[in-house]
Formats: sequence, C-alpha cells, structure tokens
Amino acid sequence: MIAHDVITFLCAKETLPEVRLEITPYRYGKWDKSIYNPKAKIEMRGGKRPSVAHDDPMIDEDRYYADFVTYHSPNGNTTDLYETIALYSAEPDWGMDETIRVSPFQFLTGGSQGYRHLRFALFGIRAGAAHKRAIHFTRLAERAFDGGDRYWGVRFSACAIHYIEDLLTPLHQKPCTEGFYLRVLLAWKRMGGIFTVGFNYHHSFERYTGYHLWHGTKWLIDAIRRAKRIDIGPLEKDLKVFWKRAKRLTCRVFREWRGFLKGKMEHGINLLGPEEVAVLDPPDSLKRLIEEWLDLAAGLVKGYLDRFVAPRLEEGRP
Ligand SMILES: [Zn+2]
Repeated sequence: MIAHDVITFLCAKETLPEVRLEITPYRYGKWDKSIYNPKAKIEMRGGKRPSVAHDDPMIDEDRYYADFVTYHSPNGNTTDLYETIALYSAEPDWGMDETIRVSPFQFLTGGSQGYRHLRFALFGIRAGAAHKRAIHFTRLAERAFDGGDRYWGVRFSACAIHYIEDLLTPLHQKPCTEGFYLRVLLAWKRMGGIFTVGFNYHHSFERYTGYHLWHGTKWLIDAIRRAKRIDIGPLEKDLKVFWKRAKRLTCRVFREWRGFLKGKMEHGINLLGPEEVAVLDPPDSLKRLIEEWLDLAAGLVKGYLDRFVAPRLEEGRP
C-alpha cells in the first residue's frame, strides 16, 4: 500500500504515550543478516516527509502526496515518537528490497520488492514473504528495546508495521480472482495480459486510497479512527489468520473495483493520475469494503502497538 505513514500515525496517536526519543546511531548490522539492495542506505530522515519520489514513473508517488502528517526536525538529539513511527513505517518502500534475489519464485510477484511486500495465493500456489518480514523486524525491535535503545526499537517496529499493513492491503493476497485470471487467459488478444491488467488494478487502487489518505479525506480517516484494537496472540499464527481474512476481502474488492473501472484498466498500462483519483467517486458498496479493510488494518496496527511497543516505552530512560 501507499500512505503507510497516515495509518501508522493515527493508530500511534491513539495507542502510545507522548514521549520524545533520543536518537541513537545504527548498530544492528551484525544482527540483521537479511539481504538488502546495496544502493539503499539507512537514512536519518527526521523532519523530512517520507521518500515518495522514484526514478521509475510506474511507482513514483510524489504527485499523490500531501502532508497529512507534519514532520518537525529533531530538537537537538531528541525526536517526536509519533512522527518517527509514522515516517519510518514507510521506509521499506524506499528501495531496500529492490533489485535483489530473495527467492526463485519472486518473478511471480514482479521481483524482490513485490516478493517481500506481498503474500499471494492463486490456485493454491503461494508466493511472497510480507508476513516473514514483519516477524523479522519485530525480532530486531525486541533486541533494540532489550538493550535500552528505544529509538531503534521504534524504527524497527515501524518497519514491522509496514509489512503488516502490506499483508492486509487489498490485492496484496492475489492480483485478481481465479475466475478473472482464467477469463484473461482466454481473452488474451483482447486484453492487455494478466500482468498488465493485474498491475493496473492493484496500483490504481493504491493510488486512489493513498491519495485520499494523504489528503485526509474524512470517511477514510474516520474508518481508521473508529477501528477497535485487535488483541494479538502469537504473531506468526495471528498474521496468517488475518491474512486469510484480508484474502477473502480482496476477492470482494477486486470484483467491485473492476466493476467500477473496467473500461479503463484492461488495454495497456493505465494508472490513474492524481487529478483523476481526486474526483473519483466509487459506489457506496465499494466504499464500505474500503472501510472494512481500514478497520482490519488499523485494528491490527493498534493491537501491535499496544502489545509490542507501548510497554517498552514505559521502561528505562529516553
Ligand atoms: Zn510495501
């Protein structure tokens, strides 16, 4: 998804105490053995907006962005908790997972970025590791908190939240329904091919919702605020349970989103521009499904913050 910072910020405001964090240097290289894009460096970005611009126009989000969250520069060596967790919940999209080899099956998800940010299941075949990345960063956060390092505990938690939000985002569990996939194969010459059509529906949905989250559109923001915290048990088990729920929701979202936009999406690449998404008015039935998604995602983020982050902020010094 895009506009991670909006969901995370609203959930953190409601769940976490108001504290400032002492900024500490990164010293976790020896604990984090995952492969990352060597061109993506760890950034200290406090005070700046999330990095939404990209060289590739297919994934550039700059024109959709608005400052829903106001980011302030660190004051001396301390920084705002809510801004930090919001900002860095966008970090996994700043290039760390791009252009690397993480699985022989990453072609099914369009490459390493997709593989780590999705969890597809189509015709019983599963690919993608978003759930594993959430657990990986949760473990790193625990290590940082255990060492009294609240700043990196929060940053790693923010990355874990990114992958949880991705895991639940519509169309991150399958690019389309199985029935639609078969229809595209049968109508290959008349339609733009499954990868193009899947790409269009997925990215246009994210641009529509991302634009309106960043611009503070009320019914979306209200859905996040209304969401009730979900109590989380064992993370590995619960992520699977909620992923399955999101997968069922994806089938309903896909049918509605396609019904709404199919004239535009099935002949060559078409991503809705910011001017288009600004005035798009989906039917109420589709809006209710988007609210259902935000209720689930925000409920789980609130539960995660409450279980894994809030107790660690009470302990120790800044
Ligand atoms: Zn992502």
